[in-house]
Amino acid sequence: MLVISSPSGAGKSALSRALLDKDDKDREGRQQIVLSVSVTTRAKRPSEIDGVHYHFVDIETFERMRDRGELLEWAEVHGNFYATPRKPVEAALTDGRDVLFDIDVQGTLQLYRSMREDVVSVFILPPSIAELQNRLRRRAEDAEAVIRRRLHTAERELEAWQDYDYVLVNEDLDTCFQQLQSILLSERLKRARNPALAGRLAILQKDLNEVLAQAR
Ligand code: 5GP
Repeated sequence: MLVISSPSGAGKSALSRALLDKDDKDREGRQQIVLSVSVTTRAKRPSEIDGVHYHFVDIETFERMRDRGELLEWAEVHGNFYATPRKPVEAALTDGRDVLFDIDVQGTLQLYRSMREDVVSVFILPPSIAELQNRLRRRAEDAEAVIRRRLHTAERELEAWQDYDYVLVNEDLDTCFQQLQSILLSERLKRARNPALAGRLAILQKDLNEVLAQAR
């Protein structure tokens, strides 16, 4: 479970997209990492597609899902509700895939509580506040009041950096993306995440024993 968080406008969405596009396929040509598509009560932006960027739901639907235990985590961010539907994540993990989460710190802490060992978290910092403002304005899809609210939230969000396993400064998108790919690769190679190694070791040890026995 690869979690990426950042204040709004630090480049997290572009990094997530690049990771999903460029990540290696498995032997059957399937994507090794899949995106967890959140549900949200926020209004859809013109460029967004329902079911791709988010599942856009009304507040009653959100509350029903929450009350039925269908959400892995949920939070209120910038005055709207956001949550991770449980089922697709569990299905992907059972299928041996990695799952990418673009969620805030409240959601990250909830995932830690239930599955800390499986979570790798990355916090993306903007190079400067001036650049953060530029990026929010360049997006130009949100009203000025929305942008101001996001800058206010950034104040609290920046404090969360110490809760994350890795912290990257997104000065240059390509460099930051390479760093993110390195994190993913290294974390995938961790012994604890590769239970099949035990079988391989058993074969190596058996073969070695045979060779040594013959030499005796
Ligand atoms: P935006 O409205 O810009 O798409 O997202 C606002 C914030 O909500 C971002 O920080 C994003 O990471 C966070 N967010 C999106 N989906 C979820 C979710 O499912 N759970 C939580 N906790 N935060 C989310």
